[in-house]
Amino acid sequence: MRNYDVAVVGSGPIGSTLARYVAKEGFKVVILEKKRNVGVPLQCAGLLGKRIKKINILPQEFIMNEIYGAYLHSPSETILKVSKKDPEAYVIDRVAYDQFLSDEAVQSGAQLLLNHRVESVNIHNGEVFVRNGEKISAQVVVGADGYNSMVSRLFNSASENYEAVQYLMSVKGVERDYVHVKAESQISPGFLWIIPISDSLVRVGMFSSLPYKEASAHLEGYIQKNPQLKNSTYLKKYHGCIPIFNPKKQIVKKRAILVGDAASQVKPTTGGGLTLGFLCAKLASEVMVKALEIENTEILQKYQTLYGKKFGKELKTQRMVHKTFQSLNDAELDFMFSKLKEEDAEDLISEYGDMDTQSPLVKEMLRRGIIFSILPQLLSRRISSLWK
Ligand SMILES: Cc1cc2nc3c(=O)[nH]c(=O)nc-3n(C[C@H](O)[C@H](O)[C@H](O)COP(=O)(O)OP(=O)(O)OC[C@H]3O[C@@H](n4cnc5c(N)ncnc54)[C@H](O)[C@@H]3O)c2cc1C
Repeated sequence: MRNYDVAVVGSGPIGSTLARYVAKEGFKVVILEKKRNVGVPLQCAGLLGKRIKKINILPQEFIMNEIYGAYLHSPSETILKVSKKDPEAYVIDRVAYDQFLSDEAVQSGAQLLLNHRVESVNIHNGEVFVRNGEKISAQVVVGADGYNSMVSRLFNSASENYEAVQYLMSVKGVERDYVHVKAESQISPGFLWIIPISDSLVRVGMFSSLPYKEASAHLEGYIQKNPQLKNSTYLKKYHGCIPIFNPKKQIVKKRAILVGDAASQVKPTTGGGLTLGFLCAKLASEVMVKALEIENTEILQKYQTLYGKKFGKELKTQRMVHKTFQSLNDAELDFMFSKLKEEDAEDLISEYGDMDTQSPLVKEMLRRGIIFSILPQLLSRRISSLWK
């Protein structure tokens, strides 16, 4: 049996990032990945808020496009245009980026074992059982094994997920600086998106609670009706799942910890998981390094406490926004968009809106009383109570 300080299950972007941090501190790290190749198939729209550059390494070569704003569409096509002077987000080559992060972990000293599907983990003594019969022992085992995490299921109930479907399409004359986002009650709190990669390529997708077949049909209906996608060609279809953020998730138990999608560390409003996942990988690695240094895995519990302290309030606000959207029908969504337009909220959203944190915008809307005019009274009271 091989012995390690840390065994990371899954070499997705979050597991590789965490492995890099811990290996850099001189600890013996192994990454166990069930697939033969890292990063494939693509299961991402690849849109990352500009903060990403401060959060993780992102070499320019992986940035395919820069985004300056968004067109937000209501069900009946009231459109809000939100824009920034500087790039607000990047569209990245996710497959190449995942492979880069994995290589960086290896460069930092971690060992990567591909084609190693972990079947079970003993969270009490750190033994890891691989499908090929190998057994590995580690002081700490990290579940970075995505939305359907086996490690998470050892001490949490099965996670709930949204279905996500996406096409890569070639199209003519697309405005490459802006993304399109469309809200519809049938798929809420999910939404539809068009994300330009270049002047002639877009990722068109949606996530929702609809089953896969219905979601695919809904997306195809949207594409066929959309004037911007006229004369477009389907190039590839992708399918994936997005975990529903679970505030009750236990992310540490004995010698096991969870990060990324395995911990449901996604933005409740958009389902985006990279920014929060990277931040949590950093947090988890710091606690883990301390625990390994003093040879006391009991302090791993600190990761759960610090996670709540650092991100709890923002995640709670986003859950409220998410629940609010979920409760609105198409007519109410249309009403909300036209009220926002009337209130000149496009400028306000442009100024306070941020891809990763929504609480500054919600706070400002509350301060100006806009929330009360756009939402039914009961809902606006619920949101404002968050700030009391
Ligand atoms: C269609 C779609 C669009 C998205 N768009 C965006 C976006 O624009 N921006 C954004 O920030 N996020 C987006 N996301 C979410 C983002 O892709 C995830 O949050 C991110 O991939 C999470 O990374 P991870 O490393 O936690 O998990 P994953 O990327 O899922 O990696 C988990 C790894 O673990 C491996 N694994 C699983 N089980 C085992 C096992 N038993 N043994 C060994 N290995 C195992 C898997 O093979 C995989 O390599 C999107 C998701 C989908 C589905």
